[in-house]
Amino acid sequence: MSDQLPGEPGFSSLGLDSRLLSALVTLGYEEPTPIQMQAIPPLLEKRDLLAQAATGTGKTAAFALPMLHRLSLEREGSNAVFGLILVPTRELAMQVSEAVHRYGKELGVRVLAVYGGASMGLQLRALTRGVDVVVATPGRAVDHIRRGSLSLTAVELVVLDEADEMLDMGFQEDLEAILDATPAGRPMALFSATLPSRITGLAGRHLTDPVSIRIQAKPSAGTAGEARGRIRQTAYVVPRAHKLAALSRILDIEGPSSTIVFCRTRTEVDQLTETLNARGHRAEALHGGFSQEQRDRVMKRFRAGTADLLIATDVAARGLDIEQISHVVNFDVPSEPDAYVHRIGRTGRAGREGTAITLFEPREQWLLRNIEKVTKQRIEIAQVPTVADLRARRLELTRASLREALLEGGLDAFRVAVESLAEEFDVLDIAAAGVKLAHQTSGATDEEAEIPQIRLSVERPLFRDGGPAPAGKPVRRGKRSAGSVTLFIGAGRQAGIRPADLFGAISNEAKLPPGAIGAIEIADRFSLVEVPEEFADRVIAALKRTSLRGKKVPVRREREDFGGR
Ligand code: AMP
Repeated sequence: MSDQLPGEPGFSSLGLDSRLLSALVTLGYEEPTPIQMQAIPPLLEKRDLLAQAATGTGKTAAFALPMLHRLSLEREGSNAVFGLILVPTRELAMQVSEAVHRYGKELGVRVLAVYGGASMGLQLRALTRGVDVVVATPGRAVDHIRRGSLSLTAVELVVLDEADEMLDMGFQEDLEAILDATPAGRPMALFSATLPSRITGLAGRHLTDPVSIRIQAKPSAGTAGEARGRIRQTAYVVPRAHKLAALSRILDIEGPSSTIVFCRTRTEVDQLTETLNARGHRAEALHGGFSQEQRDRVMKRFRAGTADLLIATDVAARGLDIEQISHVVNFDVPSEPDAYVHRIGRTGRAGREGTAITLFEPREQWLLRNIEKVTKQRIEIAQVPTVADLRARRLELTRASLREALLEGGLDAFRVAVESLAEEFDVLDIAAAGVKLAHQTSGATDEEAEIPQIRLSVERPLFRDGGPAPAGKPVRRGKRSAGSVTLFIGAGRQAGIRPADLFGAISNEAKLPPGAIGAIEIADRFSLVEVPEEFADRVIAALKRTSLRGKKVPVRREREDFGGR
């Protein structure tokens, strides 16, 4: 990219097809994330890969881009499936297939998402017409392989995405069957957030001399230490669709003076700047697409306080030296802890107080934990201000302006109006009407819609004990309690698990006091149990020791994004 800063490792250095690079420019990606830097070259060289990376690290592009590049080189005009991507859930199948479609648009790539619960007929027709990349849940992939509608003979790259989730959901047999049905010697890539022995075992059986990647950046001790103490760190968990509204509201409440808002892409920088300005903020955009002259102009306005928000990508903000930043906002979570430390280190300088605010999507809570682990600092989770909070804050601003006006004096000319109205109305009512007018002209509107509040544990409908549960949905028993966590147990209805089994195992093995076990949900392939936080580790250890219905099963704290994907 021509506007790349000197020495910047850009996508162009990875040797990808120019049509892929231009798709990335359209999407506003400025530079590869660490997993992309490390995974793309070996996948282009047809090596096998074992990568530890979770949602939010940019892993989808890390396997999709080399797959598409190879497809464009090796497969002109063929109707056979070239790439197979296996994912644990229908939601992820749709998400990944959309991403592959976006990246491969200019290559005219045909992508199909194949998952259970959707019409077999439509999938069959699409497969017959010809598909380049199939993104599938393992169960449905096996169905198609058995019917002969999905042939793996010409597959040139198999990707296992979120492999640990697939195993936890009981897809081990299906995965083995698919990998066994793939001709020997075809490149395979396994991506997983965690690498327990079952994953390394699977990798050992199916990968050949894989390149191993672990994205576990350690921040330099100095930066982490510096950040400690003087920076108040807060996170908000907000669904993607509400992020813009949430940020605008958080800024309204915080009233920051000089703030950098970090986004992942140029497109986001532009959108955010436009929306925030439309909502009455004073925002300036800064990204890698700007000329030096434009950058200088923007920075001048920001330094002079003509703008109080600088909306920037990491690339654009690099090398900027700005004193007195009051707030750093991560509109997108950085893809690795190092970048987080680097970004927030821009505030709280020279002994001043700073605030770091991060917006996480529900499925990105893994990244939050990872950042906390690496920085050894707790990030406080706050609730997005409600409409009522916002009204209260706006009224407070109006009140403060009126107080200023009172202190300033010079009100004689207006007293006449009050005096004449006082013959008819109560003086307090007249004052309130004045406040109302001032409030309205300040631009405060009360038209905001409520933003859903996401709590850190799963919220799903309660079904009555013994009552019928909607097909396919988990059966839930008991009531939830405050301060509880949800545990994931990798066996469910299909393994014959009933609530009583879990109840018995937990109360007998972990010796929990009566009444401590909360809601129990049984789904087809897994179960969820709520227990008080203080007993969580004890219950996990106890359940790991014992067996359920004769089998050892995986037990862990539930990832809070469950159900959101
Ligand atoms: P993933 O970890 O694949 O779920 O990606 C997380 C998010 O990061 C997605 O919204 C991607 O569009 C975005 N993303 C991936 N790679 C990049 C990149 N190099 N620059 C900016 N955004 C990216």
